[in-house]
Amino acid sequence: MNSLVWFKNDLRIADNLSLSKACEHTNTIGVYCFDPRQFTHTTFGFKKTERYRAKFLRESIKVLAEALRSKNISLLVYFAKPEEVIPHLTAFHKIDSIYVHSEWTSEELAVNNALKNALPSSVALIESHDNFLFHPQDLPFSTLEELPKVFTAFRKKCEKYSKVRIPLAAPVPKPKSNLLDQKTKIPSLKELGLDEFEQDPRTAFPFQGGEAMGLARLNNYFWETKGIAQYKKTRNGLIGAAYSSKFSAWLANGCLSPRTIYASLKEFETEVIKNQDTYWLYFELIWRDFFRYVSLKHGNSIFKLGGILERNYDWGREGDHLEKWINGNTPKRFVNANMKELKHTGFMSNRGRQNVASFWAKEQKQDWRFGAAYFESMLIDYDVHSNWCNWMYLSGVGNDHRDRKFNIERQAEIYDPEGEYQKQWL
Ligand code: FAD
Repeated sequence: MNSLVWFKNDLRIADNLSLSKACEHTNTIGVYCFDPRQFTHTTFGFKKTERYRAKFLRESIKVLAEALRSKNISLLVYFAKPEEVIPHLTAFHKIDSIYVHSEWTSEELAVNNALKNALPSSVALIESHDNFLFHPQDLPFSTLEELPKVFTAFRKKCEKYSKVRIPLAAPVPKPKSNLLDQKTKIPSLKELGLDEFEQDPRTAFPFQGGEAMGLARLNNYFWETKGIAQYKKTRNGLIGAAYSSKFSAWLANGCLSPRTIYASLKEFETEVIKNQDTYWLYFELIWRDFFRYVSLKHGNSIFKLGGILERNYDWGREGDHLEKWINGNTPKRFVNANMKELKHTGFMSNRGRQNVASFWAKEQKQDWRFGAAYFESMLIDYDVHSNWCNWMYLSGVGNDHRDRKFNIERQAEIYDPEGEYQKQWL
């Protein structure tokens, strides 16, 4: 009875349901595939994965391989399509069960289906939801049809009726005999078709990928600096690492589970302080879950021009708007500063993201999907659900029925009153 864990964006050993279940088998191996399709160009003209996220991903895989090795589990890494590699591995290692965490967006489903078709019927593909704060079985709605259209209704019901599950411990070590002789290599940025680069010293995200680094950041933000005790007051900041948690990239790659963050938050509230600020991190993690459930319910509509509201607006696509927006050459200095930050670092604050997205979709009235696709390419913390659902929301085709537009000048006055942020980037 041998098992294989197909890692995707659950790059951790603690609180990993697939790994825990797989370790109940006699022998277990791990596999990660850098899927070549993730390194090609999209129909919007951008590389699907740019160098910032690819670097973070490589680091996360390296750390995962080391952590698994400490449990006597080998991680085999390939630059190939999963459906081409995994069937061979299952035959060679006599695998009967493959464990994988569930994804439901179209590209992920297509890969899953291709793999299912390539596997013999004797091999089971066992999927489980593992990147939510509130597990789907613990939601206070019996079907997704009942999912509230607006966030506040979702949050209130979840806060009242749902519980966050306790994180699972990392598995106990397997016997040494479980380790394979077989060695594989993590592809370099160059092999992935990307350029090596030096980190911009101005970056607000000076961190590396990997579970250990995510846990170190959690420890630093909660226990060493106690930044969490001021989170609500600082979260709209623009400069430096301290203004917000910066958990997003570890969450997006599954190096940290939201339940681990929640458990630490509760501990902090018991041992240090419980206030509006500590609550607000929980609030934001519920936003993250809300968008995951919106995506689970609406499927491919989140990528469509009319969004989940099926709204028809007159979207522009002509001229050099896109180039000017990307390069920070628009008439709005605040937008320009944020777009330059993204281009040079792969990161942008939440305040910045809201402003540049509103400018693109609501002020310039350009096809919002180009903005979302550019973010997909560039963001270190790209997460399909958070990105496309936030973009829909700000473009008036998602969960905000008020169809708002940001006043960019006013936003710059409030959040960058001395122009310090704009000076840093312009
Ligand atoms: P914190 O303020 O410390 O928040 C803690 C955590 O809460 C975040 O790590 C994130 O997991 C969650 N969170 C906070 N705000 C949101 C939100 N608006 N929506 C969903 N989750 C949230 N976040 C991503 O992780 N990946 C994306 O691809 C992404 N694209 C975005 C695109 C647009 C247009 C906008 C407006 C927002 C996007 N966000 C995305 C949400 C948010 O901007 C980032 O999660 C946040 O800025 C990351 O920094 P942080 O971890 O320090 O956040």
